[in-house]
Amino acid sequence: MKPIYLGCIADDFTGATDLANNLVRAGMRVVQTIGVPDGPLDAEVDAVVVALKSRTVAPSDAVAQSLDALAWLQAQGAQQIYFKYCSTFDSTAQGNIGPVTEALMDALKTDFTIATSAFPDNGRTVFKGHLFVGEVLLNESGMQNHPLTPMTDPNLVRVMQAQTRRKVGLIDHKAVAQGEAAIRARIDALRAQGIGVAIVDAVSNDDLLRLGPALKAMPLITAGSGVAIGLPANFGLAPSPQASRLPPATGLQAVVSGSCSVATNKQVAHFIAAGRPAFEVDPLRLAAGDDVAAAALAWAAPLLASGPVLVYSTAEPGAVKSVQAQLGVEAAGEMVERCIATIARGLVERGVRQLIVAGGETSGACVQALCITQMQIGPQIDPGVPWCHAVTAGAGLHLTLKSGNFGTDDFFTKAFTVLA
Ligand code: ADP
Repeated sequence: MKPIYLGCIADDFTGATDLANNLVRAGMRVVQTIGVPDGPLDAEVDAVVVALKSRTVAPSDAVAQSLDALAWLQAQGAQQIYFKYCSTFDSTAQGNIGPVTEALMDALKTDFTIATSAFPDNGRTVFKGHLFVGEVLLNESGMQNHPLTPMTDPNLVRVMQAQTRRKVGLIDHKAVAQGEAAIRARIDALRAQGIGVAIVDAVSNDDLLRLGPALKAMPLITAGSGVAIGLPANFGLAPSPQASRLPPATGLQAVVSGSCSVATNKQVAHFIAAGRPAFEVDPLRLAAGDDVAAAALAWAAPLLASGPVLVYSTAEPGAVKSVQAQLGVEAAGEMVERCIATIARGLVERGVRQLIVAGGETSGACVQALCITQMQIGPQIDPGVPWCHAVTAGAGLHLTLKSGNFGTDDFFTKAFTVLA
Protein backbone atom coordinates (compact mmCIF):
# COMPACT_ATOMS: atom_id res chain seq x y z
CA MET A 1 0.00 0.00 0.00
CA LYS A 2 1.29 3.48 -0.92
CA PRO A 3 2.07 5.60 2.17
CA ILE A 4 -0.43 8.39 2.82
CA TYR A 5 0.54 12.05 2.47
CA LEU A 6 -1.67 13.62 5.12
CA GLY A 7 -2.74 12.05 8.42
CA CYS A 8 -5.63 13.84 10.13
CA ILE A 9 -7.00 13.60 13.66
CA ALA A 10 -10.51 15.06 14.11
CA ASP A 11 -12.03 15.71 17.53
CA ASP A 12 -15.54 14.73 16.47
CA PHE A 13 -17.38 12.75 13.92
CA THR A 14 -19.15 15.13 11.56
CA GLY A 15 -16.16 17.48 11.84
CA ALA A 16 -14.01 14.69 10.44
CA THR A 17 -16.32 14.39 7.44
CA ASP A 18 -16.23 18.17 6.95
CA LEU A 19 -12.41 18.07 6.77
CA ALA A 20 -12.40 15.02 4.49
CA ASN A 21 -14.83 16.82 2.18
CA ASN A 22 -12.49 19.81 1.81
CA LEU A 23 -9.51 17.57 1.08
CA VAL A 24 -11.47 15.67 -1.57
CA ARG A 25 -12.55 18.90 -3.25
CA ALA A 26 -8.92 19.95 -3.44
CA GLY A 27 -7.95 16.68 -5.13
CA MET A 28 -7.12 14.13 -2.44
CA ARG A 29 -8.65 10.66 -2.25
CA VAL A 30 -9.70 10.33 1.39
CA VAL A 31 -10.88 7.67 3.79
CA GLN A 32 -12.39 8.53 7.16
CA THR A 33 -12.03 5.95 9.91
CA ILE A 34 -14.29 5.70 12.94
CA GLY A 35 -11.82 5.74 15.80
CA VAL A 36 -8.29 4.36 15.48
CA PRO A 37 -8.28 1.23 13.27
CA ASP A 38 -7.01 -2.09 14.69
CA GLY A 39 -4.96 -2.99 11.64
CA PRO A 40 -3.24 -1.32 8.71
CA LEU A 41 -5.15 0.75 6.16
CA ASP A 42 -6.59 -1.33 3.31
CA ALA A 43 -7.34 1.43 0.80
CA GLU A 44 -5.15 3.32 -1.67
CA VAL A 45 -5.71 6.98 -0.66
CA ASP A 46 -3.82 10.24 -0.22
CA ALA A 47 -5.17 11.14 3.23
CA VAL A 48 -6.89 9.49 6.17
CA VAL A 49 -9.05 11.31 8.70
CA VAL A 50 -9.31 9.46 12.02
CA ALA A 51 -12.57 10.54 13.66
CA LEU A 52 -12.34 10.65 17.45
CA LYS A 53 -14.91 11.71 20.02
CA SER A 54 -12.46 13.81 22.02
CA ARG A 55 -13.88 17.34 21.95
CA THR A 56 -15.49 17.33 25.38
CA VAL A 57 -13.90 14.38 27.20
CA ALA A 58 -11.30 14.95 29.96
CA PRO A 59 -8.12 16.56 28.51
CA SER A 60 -5.97 13.55 29.50
CA ASP A 61 -8.34 11.23 27.64
CA ALA A 62 -8.34 13.50 24.56
CA VAL A 63 -4.53 13.53 24.60
CA ALA A 64 -4.33 9.73 24.91
CA GLN A 65 -6.80 9.18 22.05
CA SER A 66 -5.00 11.70 19.85
CA LEU A 67 -1.57 10.17 20.47
CA ASP A 68 -3.00 6.75 19.59
CA ALA A 69 -4.32 8.16 16.34
CA LEU A 70 -0.95 9.82 15.67
CA ALA A 71 0.93 6.54 16.13
CA TRP A 72 -1.40 4.75 13.71
CA LEU A 73 -1.17 7.53 11.10
CA GLN A 74 2.62 7.52 11.36
CA ALA A 75 2.59 3.77 10.80
CA GLN A 76 0.67 4.42 7.54
CA GLY A 77 3.49 6.73 6.44
CA ALA A 78 1.78 10.10 6.99
CA GLN A 79 4.15 12.91 5.97
CA GLN A 80 2.18 15.68 7.69
CA ILE A 81 -0.30 15.66 10.60
CA TYR A 82 -3.48 17.80 10.74
CA PHE A 83 -5.36 18.16 14.04
CA LYS A 84 -8.91 19.25 13.17
CA TYR A 85 -11.30 20.96 15.60
CA CYS A 86 -14.55 22.88 15.26
CA SER A 87 -14.79 26.05 13.18
CA THR A 88 -16.15 27.78 16.30
CA PHE A 89 -13.02 26.68 18.25
CA ASP A 90 -15.20 24.70 20.70
CA SER A 91 -13.14 24.29 23.87
CA THR A 92 -12.79 25.41 27.50
CA ALA A 93 -9.88 26.84 29.50
CA GLN A 94 -9.01 23.20 30.30
CA GLY A 95 -8.94 22.22 26.63
CA ASN A 96 -9.04 20.23 24.64
CA ILE A 97 -7.49 22.10 21.72
CA GLY A 98 -4.47 23.35 23.71
CA PRO A 99 -3.50 20.12 25.50
CA VAL A 100 -3.90 18.00 22.37
CA THR A 101 -1.88 20.47 20.28
CA GLU A 102 0.92 20.43 22.85
CA ALA A 103 0.97 16.66 23.11
CA LEU A 104 1.13 16.29 19.32
CA MET A 105 3.93 18.90 19.11
CA ASP A 106 5.91 17.01 21.75
CA ALA A 107 5.38 13.67 20.02
CA LEU A 108 6.36 15.14 16.65
CA LYS A 109 9.31 16.99 18.23
CA THR A 110 8.27 20.28 16.66
CA ASP A 111 8.46 23.70 18.29
CA PHE A 112 5.95 25.53 16.08
CA THR A 113 2.47 25.11 14.66
CA ILE A 114 -0.47 27.20 13.56
CA ALA A 115 -4.05 27.34 14.82
CA THR A 116 -7.03 28.84 13.04
CA SER A 117 -10.66 27.93 12.65
CA ALA A 118 -11.24 30.11 9.56
CA PHE A 119 -13.69 28.47 7.12
CA PRO A 120 -14.97 31.31 4.90
CA ASP A 121 -17.24 28.99 2.86
CA ASN A 122 -19.24 28.50 6.07
CA GLY A 123 -18.96 32.11 7.29
CA ARG A 124 -16.13 31.53 9.79
CA THR A 125 -13.47 34.24 9.36
CA VAL A 126 -10.56 35.30 11.55
CA PHE A 127 -9.27 38.88 11.56
CA LYS A 128 -6.72 40.32 14.00
CA GLY A 129 -7.07 37.03 15.83
CA HIS A 130 -10.81 37.51 16.34
CA LEU A 131 -13.21 34.83 15.15
CA PHE A 132 -16.39 35.91 13.38
CA VAL A 133 -19.37 33.64 12.76
CA GLY A 134 -21.21 35.19 9.85
CA GLU A 135 -21.63 38.88 10.65
CA VAL A 136 -20.97 38.69 14.41
CA LEU A 137 -18.14 37.90 16.78
CA LEU A 138 -17.95 34.36 18.17
CA ASN A 139 -19.20 35.45 21.62
CA GLU A 140 -22.37 36.94 20.08
CA SER A 141 -23.10 34.02 17.75
CA GLY A 142 -25.04 31.86 20.18
CA MET A 143 -21.86 29.90 20.99
CA GLN A 144 -21.62 31.88 24.26
CA ASN A 145 -24.55 29.73 25.42
CA HIS A 146 -23.20 26.34 24.31
CA PRO A 147 -23.92 23.83 27.11
CA LEU A 148 -20.47 22.18 27.07
CA THR A 149 -18.06 24.63 25.44
CA PRO A 150 -19.42 28.16 25.92
CA MET A 151 -17.30 30.55 23.85
CA THR A 152 -17.33 33.92 25.59
CA ASP A 153 -14.10 35.41 24.16
CA PRO A 154 -13.73 35.91 20.37
CA ASN A 155 -9.96 36.57 20.60
CA LEU A 156 -8.41 33.22 19.64
CA VAL A 157 -4.94 34.28 20.79
CA ARG A 158 -6.32 34.71 24.32
CA VAL A 159 -8.51 31.61 24.10
CA MET A 160 -5.60 29.43 22.97
CA GLN A 161 -3.17 31.00 25.46
CA ALA A 162 -5.52 30.01 28.31
CA GLN A 163 -5.13 26.34 27.43
CA THR A 164 -1.46 25.94 26.55
CA ARG A 165 1.90 26.51 28.22
CA ARG A 166 3.47 27.47 24.91
CA LYS A 167 3.46 31.14 23.92
CA VAL A 168 0.70 32.04 21.45
CA GLY A 169 1.10 34.69 18.74
CA LEU A 170 -0.62 35.92 15.57
CA ILE A 171 0.09 35.71 11.85
CA ASP A 172 -2.01 38.72 10.96
CA HIS A 173 -3.89 39.45 7.77
CA LYS A 174 -1.19 41.83 6.54
CA ALA A 175 1.21 38.91 6.21
CA VAL A 176 -1.40 36.46 4.92
CA ALA A 177 -2.52 38.90 2.19
CA GLN A 178 1.06 39.14 0.88
CA GLY A 179 1.45 35.40 0.43
CA GLU A 180 3.93 32.62 1.11
CA ALA A 181 7.15 34.62 1.56
CA ALA A 182 5.58 37.11 3.97
CA ILE A 183 3.88 34.33 5.95
CA ARG A 184 7.17 32.43 6.22
CA ALA A 185 8.95 35.59 7.34
CA ARG A 186 6.28 36.14 9.99
CA ILE A 187 6.64 32.53 11.17
CA ASP A 188 10.43 33.00 11.48
CA ALA A 189 9.93 36.22 13.45
CA LEU A 190 7.42 34.59 15.82
CA ARG A 191 9.69 31.59 16.34
CA ALA A 192 12.57 33.92 17.20
CA GLN A 193 10.33 35.43 19.92
CA GLY A 194 9.73 31.98 21.39
CA ILE A 195 6.16 31.70 20.10
CA GLY A 196 5.06 28.09 19.72
CA VAL A 197 1.55 28.43 18.35
CA ALA A 198 0.33 31.14 15.95
CA ILE A 199 -3.31 31.97 15.31
CA VAL A 200 -3.70 32.78 11.58
CA ASP A 201 -6.00 35.46 10.14
CA ALA A 202 -7.99 34.40 7.06
CA VAL A 203 -11.15 36.02 5.70
CA SER A 204 -11.38 34.37 2.27
CA ASN A 205 -10.52 31.18 0.43
CA ASP A 206 -7.77 33.18 -1.32
CA ASP A 207 -6.18 33.75 2.09
CA LEU A 208 -6.27 30.01 2.79
CA LEU A 209 -4.83 29.21 -0.64
CA ARG A 210 -1.97 31.70 0.03
CA LEU A 211 -1.40 30.09 3.43
CA GLY A 212 -1.18 26.54 2.04
CA PRO A 213 2.30 26.73 0.44
CA ALA A 214 3.75 28.32 3.60
CA LEU A 215 2.67 25.22 5.55
CA LYS A 216 4.54 22.79 3.29
CA ALA A 217 6.66 20.48 5.43
CA MET A 218 5.30 21.88 8.73
CA PRO A 219 5.07 18.62 10.74
CA LEU A 220 1.82 19.60 12.47
CA ILE A 221 -1.07 21.82 11.40
CA THR A 222 -3.97 22.53 13.74
CA ALA A 223 -7.13 24.09 12.31
CA GLY A 224 -10.80 23.84 11.49
CA SER A 225 -11.50 22.32 8.09
CA GLY A 226 -10.80 25.48 6.04
CA VAL A 227 -7.00 25.28 5.93
CA ALA A 228 -7.33 21.91 4.15
CA ILE A 229 -8.21 23.54 0.82
CA GLY A 230 -4.65 24.81 0.41
CA LEU A 231 -2.76 21.61 1.29
CA PRO A 232 -3.22 19.01 -1.48
CA ALA A 233 -1.30 21.25 -3.95
CA ASN A 234 1.77 20.85 -1.68
CA PHE A 235 1.73 17.17 -2.62
CA GLY A 236 1.32 17.85 -6.35
CA LEU A 237 -2.43 17.19 -6.34
CA ALA A 238 -5.07 19.32 -8.08
CA PRO A 239 -8.88 19.17 -7.95
CA SER A 240 -10.17 16.26 -10.05
CA PRO A 241 -13.39 14.24 -10.35
CA GLN A 242 -11.37 11.08 -9.63
CA ALA A 243 -10.86 12.16 -6.01
CA SER A 244 -14.58 12.00 -5.21
CA ARG A 245 -15.47 8.95 -7.28
CA LEU A 246 -17.64 6.41 -5.41
CA PRO A 247 -19.18 3.15 -6.63
CA PRO A 248 -22.55 3.70 -8.42
CA ALA A 249 -25.52 4.18 -6.09
CA THR A 250 -28.12 1.43 -5.86
CA GLY A 251 -31.04 0.43 -3.64
CA LEU A 252 -33.72 2.27 -1.69
CA GLN A 253 -33.49 5.74 -0.14
CA ALA A 254 -34.19 7.00 3.38
CA VAL A 255 -33.50 9.86 5.80
CA VAL A 256 -33.19 9.57 9.59
CA SER A 257 -32.90 12.72 11.68
CA GLY A 258 -32.18 13.15 15.39
CA SER A 259 -30.92 16.72 15.03
CA CYS A 260 -32.98 19.54 16.54
CA SER A 261 -30.85 22.34 15.09
CA VAL A 262 -32.43 25.26 13.27
CA ALA A 263 -31.32 24.10 9.80
CA THR A 264 -32.56 20.55 10.36
CA ASN A 265 -35.97 21.76 11.52
CA LYS A 266 -36.27 23.64 8.22
CA GLN A 267 -35.12 20.59 6.24
CA VAL A 268 -37.69 18.32 7.90
CA ALA A 269 -40.45 20.89 7.25
CA HIS A 270 -39.35 21.20 3.61
CA PHE A 271 -39.41 17.42 3.06
CA ILE A 272 -42.90 17.13 4.56
CA ALA A 273 -44.18 20.15 2.59
CA ALA A 274 -42.91 18.46 -0.60
CA GLY A 275 -45.43 15.68 0.11
CA ARG A 276 -42.84 13.03 1.02
CA PRO A 277 -43.73 10.45 3.72
CA ALA A 278 -42.46 11.18 7.24
CA PHE A 279 -42.70 9.36 10.61
CA GLU A 280 -42.19 11.23 13.88
CA VAL A 281 -40.36 9.54 16.74
CA ASP A 282 -41.91 10.78 20.00
CA PRO A 283 -39.43 10.57 22.93
CA LEU A 284 -42.30 10.33 25.43
CA ARG A 285 -43.60 7.19 23.71
CA LEU A 286 -40.06 5.79 23.89
CA ALA A 287 -39.91 6.57 27.60
CA ALA A 288 -43.27 4.85 28.07
CA GLY A 289 -41.73 1.66 26.66
CA ASP A 290 -43.39 1.61 23.22
CA ASP A 291 -41.39 -0.16 20.48
CA VAL A 292 -41.21 2.96 18.33
CA ALA A 293 -38.43 1.54 16.14
CA ALA A 294 -40.56 -1.45 15.15
CA ALA A 295 -43.51 0.86 14.44
CA ALA A 296 -41.36 3.13 12.25
CA LEU A 297 -39.96 0.19 10.29
CA ALA A 298 -43.43 -1.34 9.76
CA TRP A 299 -44.62 2.08 8.54
CA ALA A 300 -41.64 2.50 6.18
CA ALA A 301 -41.57 -0.97 4.62
CA PRO A 302 -44.42 -0.55 2.08
CA LEU A 303 -43.41 3.06 1.23
CA LEU A 304 -39.73 2.58 0.44
CA ALA A 305 -40.26 1.35 -3.13
CA SER A 306 -41.91 4.68 -4.05
CA GLY A 307 -39.02 6.94 -3.01
CA PRO A 308 -37.27 8.32 0.07
CA VAL A 309 -38.95 8.22 3.50
CA LEU A 310 -38.04 10.29 6.56
CA VAL A 311 -37.98 9.14 10.18
CA TYR A 312 -37.32 12.03 12.56
CA SER A 313 -37.29 13.08 16.21
CA THR A 314 -36.40 16.63 15.14
CA ALA A 315 -38.40 19.15 17.16
CA GLU A 316 -38.50 22.87 17.91
CA PRO A 317 -36.57 24.13 20.99
CA GLY A 318 -39.72 24.44 23.14
CA ALA A 319 -40.70 20.82 22.57
CA VAL A 320 -37.13 19.61 23.16
CA LYS A 321 -36.93 21.54 26.46
CA SER A 322 -40.22 20.07 27.62
CA VAL A 323 -39.04 16.51 26.83
CA GLN A 324 -35.71 17.18 28.54
CA ALA A 325 -37.48 18.53 31.63
CA GLN A 326 -39.51 15.32 31.86
CA LEU A 327 -36.82 12.76 30.96
CA GLY A 328 -33.50 14.50 31.66
CA VAL A 329 -31.23 15.91 28.93
CA GLU A 330 -28.86 12.94 28.72
CA ALA A 331 -31.49 10.22 29.12
CA ALA A 332 -33.68 11.76 26.42
CA GLY A 333 -30.71 12.19 24.07
CA GLU A 334 -29.49 8.64 24.51
CA MET A 335 -32.93 7.10 24.19
CA VAL A 336 -33.62 8.95 20.97
CA GLU A 337 -30.17 8.23 19.53
CA ARG A 338 -30.56 4.50 20.25
CA CYS A 339 -34.00 4.43 18.62
CA ILE A 340 -32.91 6.31 15.47
CA ALA A 341 -29.85 4.06 15.16
CA THR A 342 -32.02 0.93 15.42
CA ILE A 343 -34.27 2.35 12.72
CA ALA A 344 -31.27 3.13 10.48
CA ARG A 345 -30.06 -0.47 10.81
CA GLY A 346 -33.56 -1.79 10.14
CA LEU A 347 -33.89 0.36 7.03
CA VAL A 348 -30.60 -0.95 5.67
CA GLU A 349 -31.75 -4.52 6.40
CA ARG A 350 -34.85 -3.70 4.32
CA GLY A 351 -32.79 -2.68 1.29
CA VAL A 352 -31.94 0.98 1.88
CA ARG A 353 -28.58 1.66 0.22
CA GLN A 354 -28.74 5.48 0.18
CA LEU A 355 -29.08 6.89 3.68
CA ILE A 356 -29.04 10.47 4.99
CA VAL A 357 -28.39 10.88 8.73
CA ALA A 358 -28.93 14.30 10.32
CA GLY A 359 -27.23 15.16 13.62
CA GLY A 360 -23.67 14.79 14.88
CA GLU A 361 -24.38 12.56 17.88
CA THR A 362 -27.09 10.82 15.92
CA SER A 363 -24.57 10.04 13.16
CA GLY A 364 -22.18 8.53 15.69
CA ALA A 365 -24.93 6.26 17.01
CA CYS A 366 -26.04 5.20 13.51
CA VAL A 367 -22.53 4.44 12.25
CA GLN A 368 -21.92 2.34 15.36
CA ALA A 369 -25.21 0.45 14.92
CA LEU A 370 -24.31 -0.21 11.29
CA CYS A 371 -20.84 -1.49 12.35
CA ILE A 372 -19.15 0.91 9.94
CA THR A 373 -15.44 1.35 10.62
CA GLN A 374 -14.37 3.36 7.58
CA MET A 375 -15.89 5.44 4.81
CA GLN A 376 -14.61 6.57 1.43
CA ILE A 377 -15.42 10.27 0.92
CA GLY A 378 -17.29 11.26 -2.25
CA PRO A 379 -18.87 14.35 -3.83
CA GLN A 380 -20.04 17.36 -1.82
CA ILE A 381 -23.78 17.98 -1.40
CA ASP A 382 -23.45 21.26 0.53
CA PRO A 383 -20.41 22.89 2.20
CA GLY A 384 -19.13 20.48 4.82
CA VAL A 385 -21.38 17.57 3.81
CA PRO A 386 -20.27 14.94 1.27
CA TRP A 387 -21.73 11.59 0.25
CA CYS A 388 -19.68 8.71 1.60
CA HIS A 389 -19.47 5.01 0.82
CA ALA A 390 -19.06 2.27 3.39
CA VAL A 391 -19.40 -1.45 3.60
CA THR A 392 -21.86 -2.84 6.14
CA ALA A 393 -22.92 -6.46 6.55
CA GLY A 394 -21.05 -7.32 3.36
CA ALA A 395 -22.90 -4.81 1.16
CA GLY A 396 -22.11 -1.30 -0.04
CA LEU A 397 -24.00 1.65 1.50
CA HIS A 398 -23.97 5.29 0.40
CA LEU A 399 -24.47 7.53 3.39
CA THR A 400 -24.18 11.17 4.28
CA LEU A 401 -23.77 12.45 7.82
CA LYS A 402 -25.10 15.98 8.16
CA SER A 403 -24.14 17.96 11.22
CA GLY A 404 -26.98 20.01 12.69
CA ASN A 405 -26.67 23.42 11.12
CA PHE A 406 -25.30 22.42 7.72
CA GLY A 407 -27.23 22.14 4.47
CA THR A 408 -29.89 24.08 2.56
CA ASP A 409 -33.61 23.72 3.31
CA ASP A 410 -34.08 21.19 0.46
CA PHE A 411 -31.11 19.06 1.59
CA PHE A 412 -33.16 15.88 2.16
CA THR A 413 -34.36 15.79 -1.45
CA LYS A 414 -31.40 17.48 -3.15
CA ALA A 415 -28.87 15.02 -1.71
CA PHE A 416 -30.34 12.05 -3.62
CA THR A 417 -30.20 14.05 -6.86
CA VAL A 418 -26.50 14.77 -6.30
CA LEU A 419 -25.86 11.04 -5.91
CA ALA A 420 -27.84 10.12 -9.03
P1 ADP B 1 -26.92 18.31 16.05
O1 ADP B 1 -25.85 17.95 15.07
O2 ADP B 1 -28.05 19.09 15.44
O3 ADP B 1 -26.38 18.92 17.33
P2 ADP B 1 -27.08 15.78 17.43
O4 ADP B 1 -27.54 14.48 16.89
O5 ADP B 1 -25.60 15.96 17.65
O6 ADP B 1 -27.63 16.93 16.48
O7 ADP B 1 -27.75 16.10 18.82
C1 ADP B 1 -29.13 16.09 19.02
C2 ADP B 1 -29.42 15.42 20.35
O8 ADP B 1 -30.78 15.68 20.69
C3 ADP B 1 -29.26 13.93 20.30
O9 ADP B 1 -28.73 13.45 21.50
C4 ADP B 1 -30.68 13.44 20.10
O10 ADP B 1 -30.89 12.13 20.55
C5 ADP B 1 -31.45 14.44 20.95
N1 ADP B 1 -32.85 14.58 20.52
C6 ADP B 1 -33.31 14.41 19.27
N2 ADP B 1 -34.62 14.65 19.21
C7 ADP B 1 -35.01 15.00 20.46
C8 ADP B 1 -36.26 15.38 21.02
N3 ADP B 1 -37.36 15.45 20.29
N4 ADP B 1 -36.28 15.68 22.33
C9 ADP B 1 -35.16 15.62 23.08
N5 ADP B 1 -33.96 15.28 22.60
C10 ADP B 1 -33.87 14.96 21.29
